[in-house]
Amino acid sequence: MKNVIFIAPPAAGKGTQSIKLKEMGYIHIATGDMLREEVKSQSELGKEIDAIMQKGGLVNDEIVFELIKKKLINLHSPFILDGFPRSLKQANLLDELFKELEINNYEVIYLDITLEEALKRALGRLTCSCGASYNIYFKELMPKVDGICDKCGNVLVQRKDDNENSFKIRFENFLDSTLPVREYYQHKNKLHVIDATLDTNIITDKIKEILK
Ligand SMILES: [Zn+2]
Repeated sequence: MKNVIFIAPPAAGKGTQSIKLKEMGYIHIATGDMLREEVKSQSELGKEIDAIMQKGGLVNDEIVFELIKKKLINLHSPFILDGFPRSLKQANLLDELFKELEINNYEVIYLDITLEEALKRALGRLTCSCGASYNIYFKELMPKVDGICDKCGNVLVQRKDDNENSFKIRFENFLDSTLPVREYYQHKNKLHVIDATLDTNIITDKIKEILK
């Protein structure tokens, strides 16, 4: 199986597909998780990262790359790179790292979704404290009783950060910042665009086909 760089706007369903890839033996590498793990480990680098985040700063590319390198260097399973690269500079750095580690069997997958569709998904999403999630805009995802969890009977809640304006901003920022990255991989013939509104299983099949 080939490695994958996974790019998708908010609410496109990247989480669901990542879970399926993990079931197939993929190692999931997400920058946010990596930073948190390093802080937890109390290493020198972790302390440095902690200090930056405490001040509300952004961890620079060099540190993120050091962590990615550490992850990739002894990896014997295919990997999913999630949330990275987010800029052209990062894409170039990643190329260098791949060259250094002799990684060339990878594909870039972009889950394509319109703002309108993504908004429906995000704003209609209801979650339960038991972990179940629902969506009032999709028949197959609606709870059987309005506002009540099918599994445990608790009252469902809407995620606080899912308000329309903040979602739109997050979505548009994402598209702007990743456009050059998508173009970069398109030029390299690595980019595969999949319609995120297709059935989840069909998306998985398409991804498998690309990565085999
Ligand atoms: Zn529940």
